[in-house]
Amino acid sequence: MDEPRTDYLMLIGGEWTDGQGDPFSLVSPVDGQSWAVLPSASQADVAAAVAAARTAFDTGGWPRTSPVRRARLLRRLGELISERADDLARLQVRENGKVLREVLAQTKGLTDYCNYFAGLAETAGGYTIPSSAPDMFVYTVREPVGVVAAVTPWNSPLALLMWKLCPALAMGNTMVVKPSEVTPASTLVLGEMIEAAGFPAGVVNIVTGDGRVGAWLTADDRIDKIAFTGSTHVGRQIATTAAAHLTRISLELGGKSPNIVFADADLDRAVEGVVAGIFAAAGQTCLAGSRVLIAQEIYEELAARLVQRTERIRLGHPLDPGTEMGPLSCRAQYDKVKHYVTVALDEGATLLTGGRHPSGAQFRDGLFMEPTVFGKVRNDMRIAQEEVFGPVVCLIPFVDEDEAIAIGNASLYGLAAGVWTRDIARAHRVCARLRAGTVWINTYRRTSYAVPFGGVRQSGLGRENGAAAVEEYTEVKSVWIDSGSGIADPFNPRA
Ligand code: NAD
Repeated sequence: MDEPRTDYLMLIGGEWTDGQGDPFSLVSPVDGQSWAVLPSASQADVAAAVAAARTAFDTGGWPRTSPVRRARLLRRLGELISERADDLARLQVRENGKVLREVLAQTKGLTDYCNYFAGLAETAGGYTIPSSAPDMFVYTVREPVGVVAAVTPWNSPLALLMWKLCPALAMGNTMVVKPSEVTPASTLVLGEMIEAAGFPAGVVNIVTGDGRVGAWLTADDRIDKIAFTGSTHVGRQIATTAAAHLTRISLELGGKSPNIVFADADLDRAVEGVVAGIFAAAGQTCLAGSRVLIAQEIYEELAARLVQRTERIRLGHPLDPGTEMGPLSCRAQYDKVKHYVTVALDEGATLLTGGRHPSGAQFRDGLFMEPTVFGKVRNDMRIAQEEVFGPVVCLIPFVDEDEAIAIGNASLYGLAAGVWTRDIARAHRVCARLRAGTVWINTYRRTSYAVPFGGVRQSGLGRENGAAAVEEYTEVKSVWIDSGSGIADPFNPRA
């Protein structure tokens, strides 16, 4: 076995540095071996990173850098990512065990994010407002918010960081990034590319460590905006912290999304869409379609077909091109998924397939879990209400459209929903009544740099991607210019 790598460093003010906290190990979810030791930031390291970002913003000139230059640097970063996409993808697979075929496609796609937000850097602006006051010229400008703290999870470490970093840098903000303690190495390598692309020192700083590092960072009153992706539980803590300083926040949190199959759906497509919705990435996605609502007329048929399809999913090593589902990402996640299987059985849900660690020598030391289907679940059961974040799906029958919508909306979350039907009128009706940030009709699990993404209710606040992201990373300034020569009445300026 190779010795764990110990040469990963944090990036603070353009310097690569060891943290003053206790180093921590990264453990492979495939074989349980430690493969890297990472530095951990102390509170003083976090303060230094915020100070560096503050200086780069306040006096370093980054917010005043021309949009064309910011766009050029982003495009250069996109080229570097494209050149090293394979390395970056393999490193993420090593960190979180997601299958290479998915991670590689996702990583290659990050270049599109750089190019899209480079375009917005050059084009997003304010507007002029016709004024009824004579000689008055009124316009708005968009200005960067300031120093952004970006705190990210482990399931798609680079993609979920780039959803924040591209619009933040395009609009002239500086950043301190705190990746998940499960997947920090890929973010540090991305930091090397950010430096190589030519972003000035201090514009992007990266500190590593566990939740305490995130807590120190988000509590720092020199931060102007917090962009967080992670659990609803931590999101609530961050919102409470942010309230103390009225720091702007965007939160991308959990989900328990309904994937609704009507009796008139194309069932061949629906089966694949339901499987993609829950078992891709081993269910470790915020937008997982973890509640499958099925019209009662087709319930038995669809449940049988889903079980058959689920049992054909190929588990294996995430680097093997034939693998469809890899291990879970970390021990805590594995234990959580196993716990929820027990909870569902105790509540009386019917286990249709899965629910166990797969047998076979190749799975013995890894965090593997069979794809799991529970049938005839009631929506008030914990397994239908709480986010598992793993390969576990609940099948819930419904009698008609109204009941499907009622069950779909009966959740604290509201991240996404799927609707499978051939009836276009029904598709529009149901879409309009579902409380979710994204609705997919006859498809599932699509995202794009150009399409806003985010949740309602306890799935979060704000939107990432698309032109909506520009609003998250800018303040609007209104400017009034009186070009006349008259002297206004100080007590009645409208006279
Ligand atoms: P998590 O909330 O445990 O951790 C996320 C990040 O927050 C990590 O970097 C962690 O170190 C940090 N953190 C932990 N405690 C903190 C604190 N008190 N203050 C500040 N930072 C703190 O989430 P996770 O387990 O890494 O990721 C899984 C969760 O993320 C799931 O709930 C999932 O639904 C959610 N998620 C949401 C989206 C989305 O776009 N809505 C996308 C991916 C994941």
